[in-house]
Amino acid sequence: MQPPPGDHVHANTDIDRMLPPAEASAIIAHHVPKVSVQTVDVGQSAGRVIATDIVAPHDHPGWPASTMDGFAVLAADLSPWREIVGTQNAGDVIDAEVTEGYTVRIMTGAPVPHGADAVVPVEDTELMEDHVVIHRDVKPGENIRQPGSDIRAGELVIPAGTRLGFAEVGLLASLGITPVTVARKPKVSIISTGDELKDPHEPIGPGQIRDANRFALAATLADEPVEITWIGKAPDDRVGLETLLKERMKNDDIILTSGGVSMGEKDYIKAILFEADDVDLHFRRLFMKPGKPLNFATRGETMIFGLPGNPVSSLVTFELFIRPAIRQMIGDRQIHRPTVPVRLLEETQPSDRIEYQRAIVSLDEEGRLVGRSTGMQRSSRLASFLGANAFLVIPPREIPWSAGETVEAMMLGAPLASDAS
Ligand code: AMP
Ligand code: MG
Repeated sequence: MQPPPGDHVHANTDIDRMLPPAEASAIIAHHVPKVSVQTVDVGQSAGRVIATDIVAPHDHPGWPASTMDGFAVLAADLSPWREIVGTQNAGDVIDAEVTEGYTVRIMTGAPVPHGADAVVPVEDTELMEDHVVIHRDVKPGENIRQPGSDIRAGELVIPAGTRLGFAEVGLLASLGITPVTVARKPKVSIISTGDELKDPHEPIGPGQIRDANRFALAATLADEPVEITWIGKAPDDRVGLETLLKERMKNDDIILTSGGVSMGEKDYIKAILFEADDVDLHFRRLFMKPGKPLNFATRGETMIFGLPGNPVSSLVTFELFIRPAIRQMIGDRQIHRPTVPVRLLEETQPSDRIEYQRAIVSLDEEGRLVGRSTGMQRSSRLASFLGANAFLVIPPREIPWSAGETVEAMMLGAPLASDAS
């Protein structure tokens, strides 16, 4: 006979110890496998994490290039005027040499002709039929980009583990590096559990709510290079859930479920993860708010996160534990969100556990970081995430945290320019 899934059944066992978030992070980090790599065309590489160091294969630019539209000259040439012997456009090399008394008309980005050691901008010259007069002194090297002056051959341009943004993609393209080797996209499924759940287009009957979690989780996952292989909802049916989980475990790297991990009779996720023979459950309770009932299990190389059902709890635990796990998995050098000290703008009531309050962090007139919570912090109130760019980390203590005290903030985005509330 299966024991009922409630916490009371396994109370006082080690699995029910409430772990501090840092301990939970360490356990997850210990179990994160590294994904394999694949090659993609540079044009498809944005947002991916590069798996190899990129070393410049050649100088950039590869030859002396003009930075101006003007005339290529010999700087030391004192001739009163110079005869124009050709025009050097960008894109080819003409057969011309610059010697005393001669010049070549040149365009921005064009190779500087042999003999020339400076380019005088067209604005500083006077054109007289087939020759040109320069009205000022010319310095050697003026308006010439020397070979390798932007990037030297052999220079480390992009270290492995870099998330490729526009600058990296542009540099890879200009160095002719394609395809590029990047981490494979982890395969993720998102399963919302609960008999009460309906889809956005469906009407809701008595006692029913609409599924928020799978949409919000998919939306926040859009910032990471993952492949969503299955997304949907599932009723509170033990056999059905077990079948679905087993199926997903075959190929997915990460399974995210939400709901079914609290103390209810039909909270089957926690029971399945606890009892399945081939699944290792590592923890299921955290000393934090929201997010106390986060379950973490592995089966082979598949990580299973049983997220709490309340939308805020599932999204806070996603941010604290799953996003870093994904980043570790793909070899991203930036695993963690930055944490900064901020001054509280309002008195804040501590909870009995470490609390992650959704907050707005901004700069005050003196340029110091200040933060205030987004209002009521109940874990069902998804609106507490609206406009939030940080979590205020409020440690438990006997007395309230007063305005002006400093706490840590985990930044989810950039601070606002001024207090926006
Ligand atoms: P549970 O852990 O399944 O008891 O869920 C805790 C709370 O979160 C309940 O009020 C559920 O109705 C709610 N909940 C569970 N899943 C979702 C979801 N996908 N979207 C919105 N609310 C949910
Ligand atoms: Mg439920």
